[in-house]
Amino acid sequence: MKVAFLGLGAIGTPMAAHLSRDPFELTVWNRTREKAEAFAHEHRARIASSPADAARGAEFVITCVPSSREVESIVDGEDGIESGIDSGAMLIDCTSGDPQTSRWIAERLRARGVEFIDAPVSGGVKGAIAGSLTVMCGGAQTSVVRARPVLQSFGRNIIRCGDIGAGDAVKAMNQALLAIHIWSAGEALAALSKLGVEPSIALEVINGSSGRSNTSENLFPERVLGRKYPRTFKLALLDKDVGIARQIVEENGLESPFIELAAQLFREAHSELGEDADHVEAVRVIEQRAGVRIS
Ligand code: NDP
Repeated sequence: MKVAFLGLGAIGTPMAAHLSRDPFELTVWNRTREKAEAFAHEHRARIASSPADAARGAEFVITCVPSSREVESIVDGEDGIESGIDSGAMLIDCTSGDPQTSRWIAERLRARGVEFIDAPVSGGVKGAIAGSLTVMCGGAQTSVVRARPVLQSFGRNIIRCGDIGAGDAVKAMNQALLAIHIWSAGEALAALSKLGVEPSIALEVINGSSGRSNTSENLFPERVLGRKYPRTFKLALLDKDVGIARQIVEENGLESPFIELAAQLFREAHSELGEDADHVEAVRVIEQRAGVRIS
C-alpha cells in the first residue's frame, strides 16, 4: 500500500516510522530535507523532492505540520499536494488543525475526486513511538473505515467524531482541558509552596486524591518537580490549539470563561517564554508571577 508522509517533526517522525514497514511502501517529504534524509537513513522510505512528488501515486497522503495554515501551504501551488495527488486517493490530515480550514481543504480536494479526513492525534511522542495514539477523525464513515489500516499503524483508539472538522474540534477542546489542567495545577502548587508545603508531598497527596489529572500524575513529577522540560510538545503548539478552541466557542456564541482565560494565559506564556519552550514550562510564568519556585 503506497503511503506518503509529509512533516517529520517531533510527532510525525515516530508516526511515519510505523509506516516504513510492510505492508506499506512509504515516501516522505519534509521542508528541511536533512530531516527526511536522516529518516531515510534509519527507515525504509523514498525521499520526495516536493509535496506534489510525495503525493503522486500514493493511495494515502498524510500531513502532520504545525497548523492548518501550513497544511494549506503544502496543498497549494505548482509543487503542492493538490497538483500531484491522484484522483481516488485520500488526504489524511494528522495536524491539530482548525475545523473551518479543514472543511475548505476537503471541498477543494473533493472537486478533484480526492477524499479527506481530519485525523489529529493525542498521546504524545511516547504514544507515537508505542503505536498507541488516540486518533480523532472527522469525515465520512466510509472514509474513516478506508483509512483505518493506515491509522492503526500508529493509533490504538481510532474514533470517528463526526463530519469533516469534528476531529479538529474535539482535539482543540482536549487541548483546552490540558491547558486548564496545567495552569490550575501550577497555581495550586505555587500557593502550597508559598505556604511552606513541600511540593513533592503536595503532589503525592493530590495524586492520591480527587484533584489529580494526567497532568499532575504524568507531567508534573518529571517536568515541574524535576526541572526537566524535554521539548516533546511545544508551548507554541498548545497556544495555537487553545486559540482554536477559543475561536470555536466564539463563533458559536458560547460563554466559555475557562477557555477564554486559558487562551489568554497561554498566549501570554508563549510570548514570555518564546518558540522553543515546552508546553509544561508555562508553569514557570506562574512561578514568576507568584514569586515562588515549585521544587
Ligand atoms: P514540530 O514543530 O516538531 O514539527 C513541525 C513539522 O512541520 C516539521 O516537520 C516542520 O518542518 C514542518 N513545518 C513547519 N512549518 C512548515 C511549513 N511552513 N511548510 C512545511 N512544513 C512545515 O511539531 P510536532 O511534530 O510536535 O507537531 C505536529 C502537529 O502534531 C501539530 O499540529 C501538533 O499540534 C500536533 N501534535 C503534536 C504532539 C506532540 O507531542 N509533539 C502531540 C499531538 C499532536 P521543518 O523540519 O522544516 O521545520
